[in-house]
Amino acid sequence: MRLVLVGPPGAGKGTQAERLAERLDVPHISTGDLFRANLKQETPLGVEARRYMDAGELVPDMVTVGMVRDRLEAGDAAKGFILDGFPRNVIQAEALGELLVERGESIDAVVELQVPEDLLVERLLARGRTDDTEDVIRRRQQVYREETAPLLDHYRDRLVTIDAVGAVEEITDRVSDALRSR
Ligand code: ADP
Repeated sequence: MRLVLVGPPGAGKGTQAERLAERLDVPHISTGDLFRANLKQETPLGVEARRYMDAGELVPDMVTVGMVRDRLEAGDAAKGFILDGFPRNVIQAEALGELLVERGESIDAVVELQVPEDLLVERLLARGRTDDTEDVIRRRQQVYREETAPLLDHYRDRLVTIDAVGAVEEITDRVSDALRSR
């Protein structure tokens, strides 16, 4: 199973991706987590990514796509994967498509987690990551609307939309059920 999770910051992509990865026995690949790991280890990639992350902007596509390409080349992604936070714009989606064509693979489904905007800001402020200040949160929401939301149309033939308000377990079940009944 090759899945992409899409949703605004605070929709619970990371939480759901982790749970689904366990159920489906495939790796969870989060570009946000990969960037934060690079940041922590102060790698050149982390140093480059930091200023974008701190401002709520997207890290340049070349950097992001290169990082994902390397991650997909690790052996564990051969059996499938759940992508969380990537692709985040149409350029990245096209680059992903090309990477997969080279591998003779494709994305099976794109899961959209839907949450009302007022709930999102509340959740993110409660989380308290360093890039979870009110201004940066707002900028990330705007980037989502402008750059990421167009992906929903790009992937309309594979889109599975889930109401992501409710208990964590319940939402995981909704996704599993929806994937099973496609
Ligand atoms: P959230 O979904 O809450 O915004 P993430 O952990 O997914 O959090 O992303 C944090 C930051 O990492 C983003 O604001 C952005 O700067 C960077 N980032 C993550 N994924 C991508 C991506 N696919 N392309 C560019 N930048 C990314």
